[in-house]
Amino acid sequence: MPDQKELLAQLNRFTKREHTLDEVYLFDLILCDNEIDRDFDCFSDRALGQLAERFVGVTGIFDHNPRSGNQTARIFRTELCSDPERKTANGMPYHFLRANAYMVRTESNADLIREIDAGIKKEVSISCAVGKQTCSVCGCNKLQKACTHIKGRMYAGVRCHTVLDDITDVYEWSFVAVPAQRNAGVTKTCGGGADFEKEALRRALDCTGALLDRLTEELRRECVRLCYRGGESACAKALADSTEHMSAERLLALKDSLSTGLATAKEKPQLTPDAGRTEQPQMRAFRLGKHD
Ligand SMILES: [Zn+2]
Repeated sequence: MPDQKELLAQLNRFTKREHTLDEVYLFDLILCDNEIDRDFDCFSDRALGQLAERFVGVTGIFDHNPRSGNQTARIFRTELCSDPERKTANGMPYHFLRANAYMVRTESNADLIREIDAGIKKEVSISCAVGKQTCSVCGCNKLQKACTHIKGRMYAGVRCHTVLDDITDVYEWSFVAVPAQRNAGVTKTCGGGADFEKEALRRALDCTGALLDRLTEELRRECVRLCYRGGESACAKALADSTEHMSAERLLALKDSLSTGLATAKEKPQLTPDAGRTEQPQMRAFRLGKHD
């Protein structure tokens, strides 16, 4: 990293008048890295490079309070760094984005400067818009096409995550209390209007899909139970097997017809006494677990 004088020369490119080292407070921070964060997102190396370019000159705020006029800092230099000793969770070389920022020293930000010096304000969050969110399993851009893979789940032994790429805008950076990125002490919000809404919608659809899967499975079990209750075991097993491939709609129809059949059968005397049947162990389990 350049020395203080060189840094001062670089920051003076962003100010109306030349500042001296006494007037400004210089500090550096890590904006983000390429590690998979707690939302199962990670930036591509290309995205880190784009962020490095775009964050120069961007103002940061503290505790998400843009009203505090003097409580702002500005990034005047960025640097893409790597740690050769370290690999990311998915085995990639570890890269991170370091930034140099400054604040003009005033009475009102003296406490804040002390907090930064003491390491209290360490965590940084960034807001940016991304043009590409690639599924790590199938490679599709989730902003253009939905896929069935869910972030954080394992597929063939590998955890699904989203690779953020193609940075189209950066909005701000700020110091916050809780970091999302595990290692850099940094959070990121990928805002940006439509992209954000699409992601929210995609998450809602993921939840709905999972709920539908669960309801269908429960419906299938209910049908299997009714099959065993109503019929001879060989026929019941065949019928139960065929429910595996039925849609929720067909299962509902089957359940209704089985329930109706059972209700009618109950009115008549049983032809086969229960004691005479040979039951499979799993059949008994069904009965014990559910009804009868
Ligand atoms: Zn996918």
